[in-house]
Amino acid sequence: LTGTEPVEDHQITVCVRKRPLNKKELNKKEVDVISVPTKDQMIVHEPKNKVDLTKYLENQKFRFDYAFDDSCTNEIVYKYTAKPLVATIFEGGMATCFAYGQTGSGKTHTMGGDFQGKTQDCKKGIYAMAARDVFTYLRAPKYKPLNLIVSASFFEIYSGKVFDLLADKAKLRVLEDGKQQVQIVGLTEKVVDSVDEVLKLIQHGNAARTSGQTSANSNSSRSHAVFQVVVRSPGMHRVHGKFSLIDLAGNERGADTSSANRQTRMESAEINKSLLALKECIRALGMKGNNHLPFRVSKLTQVLRDSFIGDKSRTCMIAMISPAMASCEHSLNTLRYADRVKEL
Ligand code: ADP
Ligand code: MG
Repeated sequence: LTGTEPVEDHQITVCVRKRPLNKKELNKKEVDVISVPTKDQMIVHEPKNKVDLTKYLENQKFRFDYAFDDSCTNEIVYKYTAKPLVATIFEGGMATCFAYGQTGSGKTHTMGGDFQGKTQDCKKGIYAMAARDVFTYLRAPKYKPLNLIVSASFFEIYSGKVFDLLADKAKLRVLEDGKQQVQIVGLTEKVVDSVDEVLKLIQHGNAARTSGQTSANSNSSRSHAVFQVVVRSPGMHRVHGKFSLIDLAGNERGADTSSANRQTRMESAEINKSLLALKECIRALGMKGNNHLPFRVSKLTQVLRDSFIGDKSRTCMIAMISPAMASCEHSLNTLRYADRVKEL
């Protein structure tokens, strides 16, 4: 990516990011089956058996706006994905950035920042980097005279229900009025005056999201987390622009519809439905006459409805890839999904 500047005029950007093999995978002598030969390609070297049972690799090649290999930092990923969208909200538009992929592929690492021991360094995540740049824009000569007010919200969608991550996971209702305006009733929206204040909110929400769960039984892999930065005009407090950054539920959960547990099956069906609806809503962004979209099929697309409408809305998807051979099937599913989000 050296020497390449991010393209700023795409309404939809689709990228892929491969994480390195981790210690556990290296200990298990896992093989890396993913390669990134150019700045926009990713190849899966899928192990297969011939009829006579001789083994061979089938190379499946995919192209995206950008492909990040395992040497890319969060800063680099941010530069080409969410960063170009910050301008959108100051120009009066809606922006969304999604992290998609299987559990363990790096969604939370990319969006929320990484865990160092027990404390999470949220400054290194895309949520924090985007919030930081929102303040940079706010103070720039071009936008300063607008006197915009910045606020932040952080919520989770679990099994089709909304929980406020800034208010002890209070369960919230979603209302839609006659004009199809969607509102999350009682959602905490904190006015923030500095980067430090936003960082505290992110830290708080990240902690709330993972509280009361173990890695083996993690709710966070079955929920979508939505962090929103809203800029409002002074006086009437009309929404000027909104940036939604979303750490999606693990996509393998959507496929897991044959579980013996009824609750798990219902959750899986819900995740599946929301990810399929999401794909349709994003695809339609670039097209005209998008009034028959499946917004109401899932809570996720319902609450993000206004972000998929209008010429000024822009979106970016980062599909995360686990490189191990054991994850091959999931990686192919992720790449195929990302491929269909946007026809290049
Ligand atoms: P997900 O949210 O998709 O389930 P995580 O973000 O929790 O996955 O990542 C799983 C593990 O892999 C974490 O321990 C995380 O620190 C690590 N990890 C993810 N992406 C990277 C990366 N690009 N570089 C180094 N470690 C990573
Ligand atoms: Mg996660």
